[in-house]
Amino acid sequence: MNYYSLNNKSLTSNFKQAAITGIAPDGGLYFPEFIPKLYDKFLANLSTLSEEEIGLKVMQPYVGNEIDKANLEKIIAETINFNFPVVKIREALYSLELYHGPTLAFKDVGARFMSRCLSYFNQNNNKKITVLVATSGDTGGAVANGFLGVDGVEVIILYPKNKVSAIQELQLTTLGQNIIALEVDGTFDDCQAIVKQAFVDDAVNAAYQLTSANSINVARWLPQQLYYFFAAKEFKNQLPIFCVPSGNFGNICAGILAWASGLPVHHFIAACNTNNVVQAYLQTQNYQPQKAVPTLSNAMDVGNPSNFVRILEIFNHQFPELKNKLSSYSITDEETISTLKQIHQNYTYIADPHGAVGFASAEQYLQENNSIHPIIVLETAHPIKFDVTVQNALGINLDYPASVQHLLTKRKQTVKLDSSYSTFKDWMMSR
Ligand SMILES: *Cc1c(COP(=O)(O)O)cnc(C)c1O
Repeated sequence: MNYYSLNNKSLTSNFKQAAITGIAPDGGLYFPEFIPKLYDKFLANLSTLSEEEIGLKVMQPYVGNEIDKANLEKIIAETINFNFPVVKIREALYSLELYHGPTLAFKDVGARFMSRCLSYFNQNNNKKITVLVATSGDTGGAVANGFLGVDGVEVIILYPKNKVSAIQELQLTTLGQNIIALEVDGTFDDCQAIVKQAFVDDAVNAAYQLTSANSINVARWLPQQLYYFFAAKEFKNQLPIFCVPSGNFGNICAGILAWASGLPVHHFIAACNTNNVVQAYLQTQNYQPQKAVPTLSNAMDVGNPSNFVRILEIFNHQFPELKNKLSSYSITDEETISTLKQIHQNYTYIADPHGAVGFASAEQYLQENNSIHPIIVLETAHPIKFDVTVQNALGINLDYPASVQHLLTKRKQTVKLDSSYSTFKDWMMSR
């Protein structure tokens, strides 16, 4: 499979090159040259297949012969070695819990797949790879965890100071070894802008073999399709609606890609907090990036979602088709809190703030549409990652899982930077 740059279709790379470089040399996002069509037989038999079998079938065409079958099987098995339960909330409303991985958020799948692909590709290379990643909260921990202790790879994480939760911060600043955390006095968009600029900076690229681990990297983006197939296993003969808490739009874009390759889906809902660029676009057909606004669902505080161009590409930039398949709602922090309470009171279910944005969006969709389709809300993080918000909203204490308990005794280690590119570059060039 080849991938082209969304800025210039004639600029192509294979999966290995796209995974290593992260972004095309012209700064464009990579996109598969064609969307593989899955066989009807595979789709009809989904519920009888194991998650590993589904993973292999879905990912193989995207990886091509860049990784042999035995190694790809192994990488997939390691990537998805935890559970993805579908929990019934009430009639026709479900929570697909994607937070049972090591860092308690859905990003573990993409990060684990990518880290294993990169170490596979780097095994005979003696030049160190530097993974440069901006995080709004959960990416950093997932990527750091995926690469911790991997030979020949170092990870540099940029995160916005005071804008991630305490547990998120501990997950990305306490690992040490080959993991370095940069505490940037700015927003996630500032961090992302620095990373984007570094990739097109000749001096930095001469000094480092850089790769990106943001959701723009195909090795992180593509395996997220698997959630949708795993959920669909349980909804035979029913066309589900997927409601996806969205920030940078990588996860929902992977779901839409799964649909484009044949997975039956009735509709997608992009559940957003007050950062509502896509909702506004769907109303006005005018895409206006905004400055990110901080909210309680901080992993979705994105004012210019990178992956949205990939969604446009899947729809061939045909607005009516896109609007027909995708809705978006914008949920305030007040609504997020009241939804956390309602879901707990009415269904004894504890959501996290991102999931709550999802449930609130699902309710709004139901008010506007007379739908008989099951709605599957992707619960993207464990409520404990946002313990202060959830405990205050519900007036209860949450138990810390063991993976969090051991973090509480560790010391944070960061390099503090302002949000200018030149400060970052000086730091990089003087290491
Ligand atoms: C990253 C993240 C999101 C947003 O996912 P995108 O792929 O960036 O849209 C939603 N919820 C949580 C908990 C996250 O960590």
